[in-house]
Amino acid sequence: MDIVTGHVGWIEVICGPMFSGKSEELIRRLRRAKIARKRVQVFKPVLDDRYSVDEIVSHGDQRMKSTVVANAKEILDQMDWRTQVIGIDESNFFGPELVDIASQLADTGKQVLIAGLDTDYLGRPFSPMPELLCLAESITKTLAICMRCGNPAKHTQRLVESNDLIVVGASGMYEARCRRCFEPGVPKQEVMEFARPATPGA
Ligand code: ADP
Ligand code: ZN
Repeated sequence: MDIVTGHVGWIEVICGPMFSGKSEELIRRLRRAKIARKRVQVFKPVLDDRYSVDEIVSHGDQRMKSTVVANAKEILDQMDWRTQVIGIDESNFFGPELVDIASQLADTGKQVLIAGLDTDYLGRPFSPMPELLCLAESITKTLAICMRCGNPAKHTQRLVESNDLIVVGASGMYEARCRRCFEPGVPKQEVMEFARPATPGA
């Protein structure tokens, strides 16, 4: 409970693959909170510097001012305690300590909006999103469009070769894929097209 406003806090999670509209949805909810004259603060991890240093930016170029933090604890340091609504983008990059911090914030009456990838480039649950989903009051799963077949896409396909969990990048390095078209790791299909021996008589 917020000692100033008497409001009960909660956690809302928006999760899905890249290009599924997580940032757009987060920005939409935060704009509505501002219209409702709530005090809003937005955070994102330092690692995500794809487009802009002090803004969250969607692939459709919607923008909102945000504070860049080096880790989840810094959210508490940078927070104005009068803030009522806290938006956190790219939450999957914060690691396990975000779980306690989001819970603490909700327990003290803050509305905590968390957006992040639910699975990694191999299709595995991306910590700390699974824990946050369990603790949240509200969960929204966003889907993208599969770039191979046009079906709803739940996966983030990495197109460049790397075994690192985090390779920051956008178009060209990743694309959305459905369950059927997703190939964990880097797709080898194109390479195999060239490697395939010529069919006799073809
Ligand atoms: P996320 O935060 O989930 O990566 P964004 O909110 O940044 O997603 O971007 C969503 C926007 O990306 C969509 O509104 C659309 O304009 C664009 N987009 C590009 N590729 C795709 C795709 N494969 N499926 C759906 N939207 C896409
Ligand atoms: Zn597909």
